[in-house]
Amino acid sequence: MRLSNKYFKTLRQTPAEAEISSHILLVRAGMIRKLASGIYGFMPFGQRSLRKIEEIIREEIDAKGGQEIHMSAVQPAELWQESGRWYGYGPELWRLKDRHGREFCLGPTHEEIFTDIVRNDINSYRQLPINLYQIQTKYRDEARPRFGLLRTREFIMKDAYSFDKNDEGLEKSYMEMYDAYGKIFTRCGLEFRPVEADNGAIGGSKSHEFTALSTVGESEIAYCDNCDMAATTERAECVDAAASDAQMLEPEKVYTPGTKTIEDVAKYLGLDTMQTMKALLFVTHMQDGKDEYVAAFVRGDRELNMTKLINALGVPEHAIEFADEGRMQAVTGCVGGFTGPIGLHDCKIVVDSELVGIRNLCAGACEENYHIKNVNYDRDYKGDIVCDIKLIKEGDPCPDCGAPVKFTRGIEVGQVFMLGTKYSESMGAYYKDENMKDCPIVMGCYGIGVTRTLAAIVEQYHDDKGIIWPMSVAPYHVIITLVNPDDEVQARVADELYAGLTDEGVEAILDDRKERPGVKFKDADLLGIPVRITVGRGATDGIVEYKLRRDADKVEMEVKDALIEAIAIVNAEKRGQ
Ligand code: ATP
Ligand code: MG
Repeated sequence: MRLSNKYFKTLRQTPAEAEISSHILLVRAGMIRKLASGIYGFMPFGQRSLRKIEEIIREEIDAKGGQEIHMSAVQPAELWQESGRWYGYGPELWRLKDRHGREFCLGPTHEEIFTDIVRNDINSYRQLPINLYQIQTKYRDEARPRFGLLRTREFIMKDAYSFDKNDEGLEKSYMEMYDAYGKIFTRCGLEFRPVEADNGAIGGSKSHEFTALSTVGESEIAYCDNCDMAATTERAECVDAAASDAQMLEPEKVYTPGTKTIEDVAKYLGLDTMQTMKALLFVTHMQDGKDEYVAAFVRGDRELNMTKLINALGVPEHAIEFADEGRMQAVTGCVGGFTGPIGLHDCKIVVDSELVGIRNLCAGACEENYHIKNVNYDRDYKGDIVCDIKLIKEGDPCPDCGAPVKFTRGIEVGQVFMLGTKYSESMGAYYKDENMKDCPIVMGCYGIGVTRTLAAIVEQYHDDKGIIWPMSVAPYHVIITLVNPDDEVQARVADELYAGLTDEGVEAILDDRKERPGVKFKDADLLGIPVRITVGRGATDGIVEYKLRRDADKVEMEVKDALIEAIAIVNAEKRGQ
């Protein structure tokens, strides 16, 4: 490709709202273009890298027996009503009506659509297992689109769905996809980590997130160096404090003026925050229009894990929010800053599992300026739900081996889910087994954020000059920088190099623009093409300069050697490791 007559535009300035490297560099290199908040287009170079990621995905999913299809982004509301997610998905679901008033959504994911395909077309055990996938545009009306391609409202996802006869089949399909994901992200050059994850709105039993390690990532991961435990902090189990066999003391109401926070009351009474319990107050908006109040209790020094609370309550994420304390007080008797489990009524009480075994805690008295000391589970109060609702902290004991856990951050580039029969039962996807008995199809689903993966690669591969693409996903392999296009010898040598490379299947750019060499070098660095061959004055003696984007040093060599070197490195690296 000759750059002089092609669309190519780079920016010197950093776009105002761009905060992270991938956003800044993809925009500056002219690879992506913003259309509206969280909505981007892909320009020629961006589109090429995107297609390379997609091809890697296709090769690896096809190798596992997946079959590619392509379904519409527009999905009829009826299917979502059948699965219960028309309500469950909440405001992130991008809803629309046609001219007849029929409701649709722009698909944020396609479980309903794929379940609908198999319930119509699959009826015998002989047709299972199957795996169908697509690489397709998804829509989520995210509350806060941000970080360039990392959190957008329109993005490309590879979504695959497996259909099996039983759990054993699902386990196998799941592990095949897990294996394929490892290969895909490795070939994309990413340093990543699969971690246990929460199933979230999709539902099902088991799940793993594939996380590209990065400090700008929104996934927080707890992991253990002593064993192989690794989970998102949303998901990570916590070890309960050991149950105490201390004697239960008599409850004692104490005057604690103005002590609205746990720290205040602990200090005032000379207690450790571990000897207190704290209340977090919520209201849930039920599907039937009714509101229900919730008080969640954890030990004073702990944080509440919202995901665990939502799972325990079985409500969608969009249906719960912090309660207005005044309104809640009128119904339940809670008192902002002084709420404890004793004296609360007409609200659901969720108690963290470890509180059951800890003796003589200090809790709010549900009365302004008062607390109660020596509060004990069972004797003084009970929970409607008792389970682990606390957030793991760095240094907490590992739930598997007890060693202190460590934290790191990453970008969720993919997630695999065991769905089981959630969708097949709600939507009636059954097959007949060997004995002609109707059985629900056992499902799994598997997503990769293709556009987010592109950004994650840039997060891991860049320096202050620009992107440093791994060969496997680079828009082009080699850039030939022609210093002076008006110089006949230089132009001829550049042409020969270009022909020599393209003949060997190397994707090359010839920068023959009438620009200053400095501009060309800057653009080449910004764009991040892995190999640069500069044709300048040395061309008269058959000498060019060879440089890898990832290395600092440049080497002068004969034209034919540069050609051999470039072809060799491209062939060695273009498939990914
Ligand atoms: P997140 O927790 O980041 O909101 P998710 O868990 O809701 O993502 P999934 O439903 O698992 O996302 O979707 C599969 C993949 O699609 C994710 O692993 C991620 O790579 C990508 N993805 C999800 N939401 C977005 C988004 N708003 N912008 C870009 N990519 C996204
Ligand atoms: Mg996910």
